[in-house]
Parts: sequence; structure tokens; C-alpha cells
Amino acid sequence: MEKEGKRRLRVVLVPGPFQGHITPMLQLGSILHSNGFSITVVHAQYNSPEPSSHPEFSFLPLPDTSSAVLTGELIAFVLQLNTNCKARFQECLAEEMRQQGPDDGIACIIHDELMYFSEAAAKDLTLPSIVLRTNSAANFLARHALLQLKEEDHIPFPEFRSQDPVPELYPLRFKDLPILGNLDKYLQLLSKASNIGTSSAIIYNTIDCLENSSLGKIQQQYHQVPIFPIGPMHRIASASSSSLLKEDTGCMVWLDKQSYNSVIYVSLGSLAFMDVKELVEMGWGLANSQQPFLWVVRPGSIRGTEWIEILPKSLKENIRMRGYIVKWAPQKEVLAHSAVGGFLSHCGWNSTLESICEGIPMICKPCFGDQGVNARYVSHIWRIGLELESNLERSEIERAVRRLMVDEEGKEMRKRGKNLKEKVEICTRDGGSSNNSLNKLIKIIMSF
Ligand code: UDP
Repeated sequence: MEKEGKRRLRVVLVPGPFQGHITPMLQLGSILHSNGFSITVVHAQYNSPEPSSHPEFSFLPLPDTSSAVLTGELIAFVLQLNTNCKARFQECLAEEMRQQGPDDGIACIIHDELMYFSEAAAKDLTLPSIVLRTNSAANFLARHALLQLKEEDHIPFPEFRSQDPVPELYPLRFKDLPILGNLDKYLQLLSKASNIGTSSAIIYNTIDCLENSSLGKIQQQYHQVPIFPIGPMHRIASASSSSLLKEDTGCMVWLDKQSYNSVIYVSLGSLAFMDVKELVEMGWGLANSQQPFLWVVRPGSIRGTEWIEILPKSLKENIRMRGYIVKWAPQKEVLAHSAVGGFLSHCGWNSTLESICEGIPMICKPCFGDQGVNARYVSHIWRIGLELESNLERSEIERAVRRLMVDEEGKEMRKRGKNLKEKVEICTRDGGSSNNSLNKLIKIIMSF
């Protein structure tokens, strides 16, 4: 967007260092770039995005954060990253500001909520800042409830309460609350990530037609700043890859050979782990369902083995008959393929949105964090999927796949999925809620 003749405003983006956070931030960058802004991405060295996939952006790695190496403890890693990065980030930006010409001023910083050091740095540099939340609005409310329940000493909750409804959070049960890792550290992170400080706005990668009620409650809570639900960003941004792993496109050729709506696509995202027993149960469950399946097994995601070499020979032979396994798939294209009729997912928020946008019903197998909340909304609010409540057992998986792919209830979910997809499409068109929010967001950034 041009301001004062040739002036092109720069927006500095600070993504969180995980696939599910990098992707929406880079999508936001593409959206803003196509609206005339220059984009600088300041990123951690861990999970660094690939600059060659975005030649239109400038990339600035934060100087060495090696003391914050990922040791498998995600929360400790993020807390340490925030402690280590603020001063360095501020130096980088101050240097950028010294070098910037009169035609290239920094309009604002947009940071992932996990990278909350950016807000403090922006304040010191007297730059406006905006928070991007890459999870659902419902998840934000669930986190808020979690902090309150902790204050009232109801967390951690005893096993017998796990099915109890959380007051005022229908349809969530205690077991759906977004809990992750070491509880005290996690709550510490949540309260920092939820505090917007002096930020000027909050962006959500969600859609009013999906989360109208949750968004309304959040806006009441944060009445001092505007909230912009501008999702689904992958639909609005130009398509460029932000994948940290190499996508195996061979599966698209395999999908071309399968019949319409017949394939169940299986992926548990970029962070979840399984043990060998669960891998084997999953394999037999899929094979026994008699449906064709495309299964992503991320290298390193099975505890105690590198990949699928551990699968018994008889299972491998069975899989060869109607299955296809990849290490990483071009997920958005897979979900858009006419052969794909269902998604067995961990219900990360990006995967959930990508599935909704293609009208694909889901089998939800939430693993941790916000996934339980998303799964509950998929199965009980939008009613476009069913949840696998048990441990991963072959008979349960087989039954769930057949319920979704073959039975009448799956057909009903597919119908509702197609309706929801249409509603979401309307929100992204001219005059739709996401489109209106985006226009308002751009106006605010230009007014800084
Ligand atoms: N993804 C992909 N290929 C795969 C599996 C996942 O491209 O084989 C992408 C998927 O499209 C989504 C992201 O990885 O955009 C995962 O994000 P999500 O929020 O669903 O889950 P997380 O990985 O954060 O648990």
C-alpha cells in the first residue's frame, strides 16, 4: 500500500519456531506483501524458514540462540528463547532502523504470541506491535479458563473429573483443556503469551462463521484493542511453501489412481510422537478397514525407531495392497484431491482449518495442547467428525475409518463439511467477514 508517494511501509514479522506457527506467519507476510508492504522476517535459528521460498521477503536470523537448544521440552525451550532473544532482537531492529532510508520505515512488528519478547522490544523502540495467535479463539478461552482453574486449585484435576464439563465452556470437558508438558512452566508461558501488554491489535487465523461466539467473548475481554479474525490465511495468501520438511509429491500420482472420496489421509502433524505399539496398531487398523489410505509417518516421530522399518512383514505387505506411506506430504494439495474423503488427524489448528476448507470430515485423535479443544469443536460444534477416545487400538481405528468413510453417519458429516466449506468461502470473499477484518487491519497498520 503506497503512502506518501513512493513510500512502502515495512512490517517486521516474528514467527514462533514451529511448523504450525511459521506457516501462518509467512502466509500473513504474503497477504501483507500483496497489499503493498515490505516484509522482514526475524526468526530463531531453530527451524529457520527457507528464504529461497520467499524471495520477496528479507530474512534476519536472530543471532545465536544455541543455549536454547530444543531438548524435547518445548515449553522450557520457548521460555528460554524469550529470555535470550530480546536484547539481540532489539539490537537487530535498532540497526535496521539506523540503516533504513526515508522510503522504508518500519510500520510495526507483528509477532507470534509465543515470541512475547518482541512486544517488550517494540515498546523500547517505540514501535507499534500486533500479536498473531495461530490457534483457535476457543482455545484462547480454554487457556484463560485453565489459568483461572489453577488459581482456584482445580488444576491438576483428578482422573475421575476428566469427563466433567468445564463450567461455561461447552462442549469442553476437563480432559479437553489445552494442557502440555510441565504444568507450572506451561502456565507461566500461557500467562506471558496471553498478556498483550501495549500491543495495538490481535490477529487470529480463524473465521467468524466458525467461532463467532468465542471471538465475541474475547473482544469483550480485550475491549481496549481490536481483534482481527482474518482466516483461513492459507486461502487468502498466495501459495508458496513454508514446509520445513521436504514434501513427497509422489503420493499425488498414487492419489490420481484412487477413486473419488475413497482415501483416508492420516497425519499427526509436525510435533506429535507415537510409540512402536501405537504405530503397529495404527497400521493394522488402517489395513483392516479395507479403505485406501495415505499415511504420513514423520521420521523421528516414533519413539525408539527411526521410521517404519520396525513394522512386521505381514503388515507391510497388507499396507502395500491399499496404502501409501510418506515421510511428509504436500498436505493442502492432498486434502484438495478428489480421491481424499476423510482425514485422520491430531487436529492441530492448521490441519483443522485446511480440512474444513476442503470440506473433508475428520477422525480426531488429539495428542496434546490445543488439539483436544479443536477435536471437540470438530465433533460437537461443527459436527464434521468423530473423536477416537480410546488409546490407539486396531479395532477402534478400523471401526472409526468405516464409520467415517462408509457409514451413513460419515455421509452426514461430509454433507455438513461441504456446507461449512461454502460458509468459509463466503467469509473470504469481498464483503465477507475475514475480508473486512483484513481491510481494517491494513488501515490500522497504515495509520501507525
Ligand atoms: N503438514 C504438511 N505435511 C504433512 C503433515 C503436515 O505439510 O505431511 C502441514 C500441515 O498442512 C499444517 C502443518 O504442517 O499446515 C501442521 O500444523 P498443525 O497446526 O496442524 O499441527 P502441528 O504440527 O503444529 O501440531
